[in-house]
Amino acid sequence: MTLTILRIALTTLLCQTFLVQASALPQQQLIPGGLAVLELPANFSGEARFNNQPLMIIRPGPQQPALALAGIPLSQKPGPATVQLGDQPHTLNIQPHAYPEQRLTVQKKHVNPDPQQLARIREEMQRMLQVYKSFSPAPDFQAMIWPLHGRESSAFGLRRFFNGEERNPHSGLDIAAPTGTPIVAPAAGTVVLTDEFFFNGNSVFIDHGQGLISMLCHLHSIDVKEGSELQAGDVIGTVGATGRATGPHLHWTVSLNNARIDPRLLLATDQPHSPAVAQP
Ligand SMILES: [Zn+2]
Repeated sequence: MTLTILRIALTTLLCQTFLVQASALPQQQLIPGGLAVLELPANFSGEARFNNQPLMIIRPGPQQPALALAGIPLSQKPGPATVQLGDQPHTLNIQPHAYPEQRLTVQKKHVNPDPQQLARIREEMQRMLQVYKSFSPAPDFQAMIWPLHGRESSAFGLRRFFNGEERNPHSGLDIAAPTGTPIVAPAAGTVVLTDEFFFNGNSVFIDHGQGLISMLCHLHSIDVKEGSELQAGDVIGTVGATGRATGPHLHWTVSLNNARIDPRLLLATDQPHSPAVAQP
């Protein structure tokens, strides 16, 4: 009896220690919108692929094994899924996950666009997909920082109903802040696309390398240009409510191997609040 209690206490302690230590590294979550973190054999050379996309490979330290990171799309069906590690197939067991629902009221054109608007949306989606599918070399992974401090107004993955009609799930997370608040790059990278989009409004796409892309949107102003090289923390623009937005906020999408995943899995800290806000 006492031994069992001791074992439970020890396991809890070990788990907590592990969580603290692991916070700077990507966290595995085998659900749609989650992330697989796969240890590679010591002699691994070559490419890892999932859903026909090359995967990011990181090397946490000289004594530690290299890791392949596979973003799992929100549309991935629960059950077995195969990742290719060189010529070795590896099976992921994707668990089901019930994301909460969110109901929003927005302008009619943003729920049922007319044919001209639909053509614009399709053209914009192609340009965005091209960015999401790109794969450029990058230095090793650095945990991301929050691009904005404020209240998290919509979590990642929500099943969304606009004016009562179900649309795509929420493929990023929202942070509310007053119009004009500066937004920073969540990690180093290159600005690969900026434009004003139908749904997303003024948007900035940053390529962090190895298939990791950030999209920051609904901006009031864009303060970078395509081709700008950024460090984590560099200002890229300000908070606004452009595109399909019910109020000023930042929508931040993180895409890895063309899968939109929960940005929290790649963040170094859990809270979008600045210490100044969090302190009483
Ligand atoms: Zn959003």
